[in-house]
Amino acid sequence: MKIVFDERQLAHDPELYFRRGALIGHPEQPQRAILLRDALLAAGHERAHPADHGLDPIRAVHDPDFVACLMGAWEALGAELGPDPIVPTFHPQRRDTRLPASVLGRLGWYSTDTSCPIVPGTAQAIYWSAQTAIDTADRVASGAESHAYALCRPPGHHATHDQTMGFCFFNNAAIAAQRLRGTFSKVAILDVDTHGGNGTEDVFYRRGDVFFVSIHTDPSAYTPFFTGYADETGAGDGVGATRNLVLPVGASVDDILARYDEALDLIRGFGAEALVISLGLDMSKDDPLSLVGMTGEGFAEGARRIARLGLPTVLVQEGGYLGPSLSDNAVAFLGAFDEARHA
Ligand SMILES: [Zn+2]
Repeated sequence: MKIVFDERQLAHDPELYFRRGALIGHPEQPQRAILLRDALLAAGHERAHPADHGLDPIRAVHDPDFVACLMGAWEALGAELGPDPIVPTFHPQRRDTRLPASVLGRLGWYSTDTSCPIVPGTAQAIYWSAQTAIDTADRVASGAESHAYALCRPPGHHATHDQTMGFCFFNNAAIAAQRLRGTFSKVAILDVDTHGGNGTEDVFYRRGDVFFVSIHTDPSAYTPFFTGYADETGAGDGVGATRNLVLPVGASVDDILARYDEALDLIRGFGAEALVISLGLDMSKDDPLSLVGMTGEGFAEGARRIARLGLPTVLVQEGGYLGPSLSDNAVAFLGAFDEARHA
């Protein structure tokens, strides 16, 4: 399958991450994308470069001022604050107060945690990560590809309409789904990252035209903590169009694949015409952030079952961190998806 990626996505290279009182190496490293790119090309997949589709498709999902703030923050503050990453640590106690004039204050308003440092290359990387998702969606929407993979990095599914979170700045999967809506009237997003896709849930919670189903580790004891529970099923026009399928800590491959089957039944029931997969690989038993037991063969079997839906599909890379099987799991998933489609 086509592997869409732009090397400018590597320009975001945060060094450190503040976790539970200590600074550790930042898990969301450019090396993740390099490993995935090289392993997938070595496995015979075909490289493609995204065209520049501009900011409008990003602003179709995100608050335009949030987009402008992230794109301009380093330029506005880097010279003033010096060479260190910009990490806003002041956040409003309520967001019905006011958005300040200060760029640092605005960044605090538009972020939920300290995991999304702004460094000199951040704007370039998040812009091209989103362009990769948009370009891949266009390839699938036009019928040029029945399915294709957007090697998005930084990832996106924790980014809400107007807040960064969990290493995510722009919500690439939501942007791809919105782009597909230009061609298809009903689009589904299946999020198989081990963390709940709170940002995607936020973007589409009140919409009935984009169905969102997320399979993830129980948020009562795991990030993103505040959303991702089974009783969140949408609101307004979106009642019934959000579903959270929660896995217990320690879930086995069989437990996880049973949730895949449940999600696929829901997607069929919705009548989706196209699909976005938020492809986190961090359910792997080898992933440094994982609390469940997915294996390479489990990823392959999950991919086969999704592929058999037969829908035009955009696969969007989400999480999956530097562990021994990261690139093997990507190769297993994409290879099995291709094979099932061509069977
Ligand atoms: Zn994740």
